Amino acid sequence: MGTSLSQGVEEGRCGDRLWLYATYHCNLACVYCLTESRPGIANRRTLSRETMVALAEEARELGFGALGVTGGETFMLSDFPETLADLGRVLPTVALTNGTLFTDRVLDRLAVLAELDVALQISLDSAEPARNDEWRGPENFAKVVATVPRLVERGLRVRIATTVDDQTDDELERLCELHRSWGVGDDDHLVRSIVRRGRAALEELGVEPGPTDILPELTITADGAFLHPFAPTVRHGVTDLDLLVARQVRPLQAALDRFLRIVAHQPAGTDVVRNIR
Ligand code: SF4
Repeated sequence: MGTSLSQGVEEGRCGDRLWLYATYHCNLACVYCLTESRPGIANRRTLSRETMVALAEEARELGFGALGVTGGETFMLSDFPETLADLGRVLPTVALTNGTLFTDRVLDRLAVLAELDVALQISLDSAEPARNDEWRGPENFAKVVATVPRLVERGLRVRIATTVDDQTDDELERLCELHRSWGVGDDDHLVRSIVRRGRAALEELGVEPGPTDILPELTITADGAFLHPFAPTVRHGVTDLDLLVARQVRPLQAALDRFLRIVAHQPAGTDVVRNIR
């Protein structure tokens, strides 16, 4: 007998968030990108709005408690503001974004999210523009600091995600002062190491994740279902399949069953420290 999703969550073996990789396309090309995302990427591996919404509805039926949408840059999809609203009507949702594509028109289309349980998680690695832009590309810092207050003043929930390499404690404290000045509290600031997969592995950056460092959370991409959101990485243009759970993603029940069989053989959460979130 395998474990159920609720039992797995209760025992700390897995999370109840379903992750969706909306696209691997991105307007940036960060040094440590797990998915080798960039502007000219040949294989965008996009999930359609219909597919994402259908998966979200299946997830709710199956007992998932939340959704995460990532990529690539989610807002490279022209209909993403509406897709995000659709998803937020199904389950609480966090969407990861680099925060550089929020024109006035996009902000207007996002207004509805203020009424929904939806958060935008924006990457920012340093309060020093040059340090941040060294990893994430020219003008990235300026664009993010211009955008976050505009989202917050519209009542949208913003989280800040910081990927650390060699930032000092003082540097991180200055970053915390910055996000607090926007009204983004410490609970909405995530700090994690660079994970040595994808482009970060080729660049020999970050930490090699151990087998239990990352909480399993079923993750759906156009290539299949994976064990957690750091699993469907890309190296030399090819998706890493070492943490593939199933090639077929629908019905979601079948992918979930395979996921739970794998999770049942892993140590329970009380026995392990999850070092990467
Ligand atoms: S890390 Fe994020 S913003 Fe940077 S290239 Fe990858 S997907 Fe784009």
